[in-house]
Amino acid sequence: MSLARILSRAQLGLAAPLVQVELHVGRGLPNFAIVGLPAPVVRESRERVRAALLNSGYEFPVGRITVNLAPVELSKQGARFDLPIALGLLIASGQLPAPRRAFECYGELGLAGELRPVTGLFLAALHAGNAGHALIVPGANGEEVALSGHAAAYGAASLREAALRLTEGAASAVLQARAIDAGLGARGPAAQTRPPALSDVTGQWQAKRALIIAAAGGHSLLMVGPPGSGKSMLAARLPGLLPPLTRTEALEVAGIASVSGLQLDPGSWTRRPFRAPHHTASAHAIVGGGPRILPGEISLAHLGVLFLDELPEFDRRVLESLREPLETGCITIARAGSRLALPAQFQLIAAMNPCACGYLGDPVQACRCTPGGIERYRHRISGPLLDRVDIRIEVPRLAVEELVQAAVAGDAGAAAGQPPCVAPADPVAQAQGARERRLRASGVLSARLSVPQLQECCALPPLSERLLRRSSQQLGLSGRGVHRLLAVSRTIADLAGSELIEPPHLAEAIQLRRPLPGG
Ligand SMILES: [Zn+2]
Repeated sequence: MSLARILSRAQLGLAAPLVQVELHVGRGLPNFAIVGLPAPVVRESRERVRAALLNSGYEFPVGRITVNLAPVELSKQGARFDLPIALGLLIASGQLPAPRRAFECYGELGLAGELRPVTGLFLAALHAGNAGHALIVPGANGEEVALSGHAAAYGAASLREAALRLTEGAASAVLQARAIDAGLGARGPAAQTRPPALSDVTGQWQAKRALIIAAAGGHSLLMVGPPGSGKSMLAARLPGLLPPLTRTEALEVAGIASVSGLQLDPGSWTRRPFRAPHHTASAHAIVGGGPRILPGEISLAHLGVLFLDELPEFDRRVLESLREPLETGCITIARAGSRLALPAQFQLIAAMNPCACGYLGDPVQACRCTPGGIERYRHRISGPLLDRVDIRIEVPRLAVEELVQAAVAGDAGAAAGQPPCVAPADPVAQAQGARERRLRASGVLSARLSVPQLQECCALPPLSERLLRRSSQQLGLSGRGVHRLLAVSRTIADLAGSELIEPPHLAEAIQLRRPLPGG
């Protein structure tokens, strides 16, 4: 046979379109051409395939070799096509019989014929499973592919082993499919690793209450406070207040992680992602992009939490690019004339110091900043971005007395004298209960209610309406600001189990929308 066809998939954003790797070995002067819009790394595949074939004890066919990656208009990136090209060459040159069923093959070849892992195979395996194709993948990707639940996936450590799998087919041992549901059913979400709990945090009642409200309504939150006040520690508690991912959501999150080359951990399968990129990270790393349109941190935080510490230190372009996903739940990336949307429905938790030195308003340490300096620091965050942050609170350093009280009496003792809503017995149940009620009533979390939906489900008694009108004027709120305020009030009323937004609910939402220090 001088013609062979092996299947594989390209990877573009979160899509895994099927690619047919066609090979022809013809007569003529020795030549090895790869056509079909391959990227340079795919063209280099010729050298890897040649060396791998020879070093695995096969012959490199003499003649005119043409490899066509179809469809032609689809851009192909990465070294994942090495294995299908090598296997196709073995079939086309008669060194291997053609397989009896459709196989999708993936893997980068080393010069000695070893098979190296590639990224995005979880997603490819899901598609291959749906299409009914068998799968040969590098052994190092076995765990990830097994998690996809594919029933006919084979792992191989080398080109020789891959060739064996292709010819033996069903006679080889398949990768033990590890259905996620099975893992969940047997051990339950309780057996999964747990995120840190809110009850571990001493004091900080307002911040804890704000976290519960943020969790219940899906609201974005900005914490302003001096260094060492525990802002990062508080942010890390948010995932523990959120409900676990559903199966569909977990598959979506795992697909994004797999494409980004992250290790999939069955132990935290249904846990919502928590991403905390450093402020020095590039716009590309945070927003996503590149030739293969890889997801950035905002997409890795999809359906979970994006924590940005030292918010004003982030590149202004990065901060401005958050506006689109905060509004729509996805990010559009333009590349070479085409546009591709990646999911980025994250909950933003941000933290910042009150000023550049960090001590504005601190009772112990004096601030060294000039009024102009404070103003400049504050203006690094634009009005339109700030408008999209529903909750803004101050997180002061704990007073010594508060720390001592908590140490002596435990957290419950320190809570004595606080209104009961501030320290619920079970913050997780409270947040999740309110969240479920809102989802049942409106189909979306209150942070995602559209303006017509807000008008529909935010019934204001006359007293509340008067309070809203007065405070909007006093605070100089924009139209968007009023809507965000109503959305937070809706969540607070949900937490209280109230159909109507009563004045105390609205008053608390106003308290949670503080202007930045110096503003
Ligand atoms: Zn200062």
